[in-house]
Amino acid sequence: MTIDLIPCRKVQIVRPKQICQPKPVNLKAILAPLDIPNPKHLRQTVELLTAFPTRNSLSPNLRPACEALKAQLHQHNALQVELMDYTLPQGRRIPEPTPCTQVIATLPGTRPNRILIGGHLDSLNLSVKPEEGPAPGANDDASGVAVTAEIARILAAKSHPNTLQFIAFTGEEQGLLGATALAARAKSENWIIDAMLNNDTVGSSSNLSGQKDDQSIRIFSEEAETHNSRELARFVELIIRETQPEFRAKLVFRRDRFGRGGDHTPFASAGFNAVRFIEVHEEFAHQHTPDDTIDKMDFDYLARVAAANLAVMATLAQAGDSPQEVQIKRDQTHDTTITWKATPGIKYVVYHRETTSPVWQSAVPVGEADSHTVKLVNKDDHIFAVGAEYGVPLEAQ
Ligand SMILES: [Zn+2]
Repeated sequence: MTIDLIPCRKVQIVRPKQICQPKPVNLKAILAPLDIPNPKHLRQTVELLTAFPTRNSLSPNLRPACEALKAQLHQHNALQVELMDYTLPQGRRIPEPTPCTQVIATLPGTRPNRILIGGHLDSLNLSVKPEEGPAPGANDDASGVAVTAEIARILAAKSHPNTLQFIAFTGEEQGLLGATALAARAKSENWIIDAMLNNDTVGSSSNLSGQKDDQSIRIFSEEAETHNSRELARFVELIIRETQPEFRAKLVFRRDRFGRGGDHTPFASAGFNAVRFIEVHEEFAHQHTPDDTIDKMDFDYLARVAAANLAVMATLAQAGDSPQEVQIKRDQTHDTTITWKATPGIKYVVYHRETTSPVWQSAVPVGEADSHTVKLVNKDDHIFAVGAEYGVPLEAQ
């Protein structure tokens, strides 16, 4: 039996763009002094990495590839660049425990809070032995490392309140091993990580089936009691919407794609806010093969992805401490009053959206306050949140 559905009436979709008034914060002032991502620089980093026949984590090329990237990042005086040595534990693609390394560049801030961005430097060719055969890994994931390195270059030209870290992970293709090692180190060294942005496979705008989208990026996030990654994703969408009107963050409310993983997940599992950026139309047939080559990339698209990441990083770099105990006053009025525990000197922004909207529809700066009443927006049909200026908001309960 088939059921005939009544055809949908054509409705005018109200784009959040048109109703997000006023601006959450003055983002133009943050971005104006910064350089913009350059497609030529992005290409140079991908060329640097793909010049190694393979960057498999078990190959002797891995360390020289990390050293080459370290040397590139080292050109920016403000960056402290380290090779973090760790051991790949025995596992599915690791026959025995093997020493490995990954690249971490740190731009110290005046606050201990950290914002991380990264991609994975290692590559994989599933059809040959790990030490042999070409694994160019141009899009997966020299593209993410190139974005990371370009943003490091741009942000290192200025100082920022929060501490920024730029990471080229390894061991990703063997089970997110480098990210797992760094997340464990972060826990043991009591790092305060406010956000982690993982860029993995972000440099191609089309697939072999003819689908193309060079104006959007997917943001994967999961929801859990132990971290606020979904709110980070919503904040990323808002910042991109406000700073790049022609570009779209397409939120996907999943940890990752089916049967696949990424370096954000060990951080989320360790209780940190972490999301994944990935192109819209990935071509599975190229991944983990000798065909993942630079000629299939779109560097103008990659530069737009880098610009989106830069806006988010530069914004989060300014954020103060999140508010505590964000609560909705449960009175029966047509207005909604939100209260929170404030930190002296920090300005706040109050957000709201309808319960069915995945994205924020309003963001109102309220200054140094510990409560705010949103007039004629009822608490029953809406979700509210409060964030420190430039920071990831916390949903009101
Ligand atoms: Zn990857």
